[in-house]
Order: sequence, then C-alpha cells, then structure tokens
Amino acid sequence: MQDKDKTQPEMEPKNSLVPREKGELLAKHEIVSHSVAKNLVRDAIEAMKNSYAPYSHHLVGSALLTKGKKVYQGCNIENASYSPTNCAERTAFFKAISEGEREFSAIAIVGGKEGVLKEFCPPCGVCRQVIREFVDPKSFLVILARSEEDYLIFFLEELLPLSFGPEYL
Ligand SMILES: [Zn+2]
Repeated sequence: MQDKDKTQPEMEPKNSLVPREKGELLAKHEIVSHSVAKNLVRDAIEAMKNSYAPYSHHLVGSALLTKGKKVYQGCNIENASYSPTNCAERTAFFKAISEGEREFSAIAIVGGKEGVLKEFCPPCGVCRQVIREFVDPKSFLVILARSEEDYLIFFLEELLPLSFGPEYL
C-alpha cells in the first residue's frame, strides 16, 4: 500500500553558473527570465489538458522553448500495451525535431495524479537522455513547476551529471 503522507526528496537546485564563450559565467535568470518561465509553465499546464493517461491517471504536460522563441507543447500518451507509452517531454521534443527545430533553451514540466499539481514532476531517465541529445547540458534549463509562481529551475547537467552525448561518437 502506498504511503499517502510521503514527501518528495529534497530537490533544491544549485544556484550554479555556466561558462559563457569568453570565460564569464552565465546564470539561469540570464537564460530565462521569470516572465518567460511563467509563460512556459502556463503552456505546460495547458498541454497537460490533452494528456492521454487512462491507465496511470498521472497527467503530464510540457512546454519546450526553442532559441527562436517558439514553444512546442507535449503531453504524455499512454497505450493499452504499456511499453509504447510516450512521455510529455519526449512528445514536445519529437514534435519540435520533426518540424526542423534543433536549438532549445528550456522545457517546463508539470504533472500529477488526475492533473492535480501537488508535487514537482521530474523527467524520467529516458527523457533526460533524449533531451541530452539535442541540448547543451550546461545551459539548457529544466523548469519543474507546481504553478506559474511555484517552480524550480535546473540545468540539465544537474539532473543528468556525467552524461553521454553525441560528441562521444
Ligand atoms: Zn519520460
């Protein structure tokens, strides 16, 4: 039986800086301002409404921001045979990639049982690796939100340290 009182493990992001081209450091707020983050969270919440999750009832929405400022929304799409299920993050990425997009700044993710945003909804390991394929883990931002005002921002590198990417092949 599930423990209903369980709380999420500590998930505070580090206030880290990433190197810019000329050796200076770049902070998260320079990549995405509060108003941009808030709008992206709103788009993720809107995307969650299209979630197809009749089996888990865990609805997830995402909104992916390209460097050209376009937004691609995604939701989770489950399947009666389970394994073909696709997460909201990959849905957004695959939509964008299939439209020719290759440069991304950030993704906002929301999710919860029956679509109630009580806890942060971190991306699964598969999605972290798919995101890693297309972004610089030192500057791409993952925004985990419970509302437009309540969110955490991570660099992908913080969620997927020592990652394997295209440059290794
Ligand atoms: Zn996933």
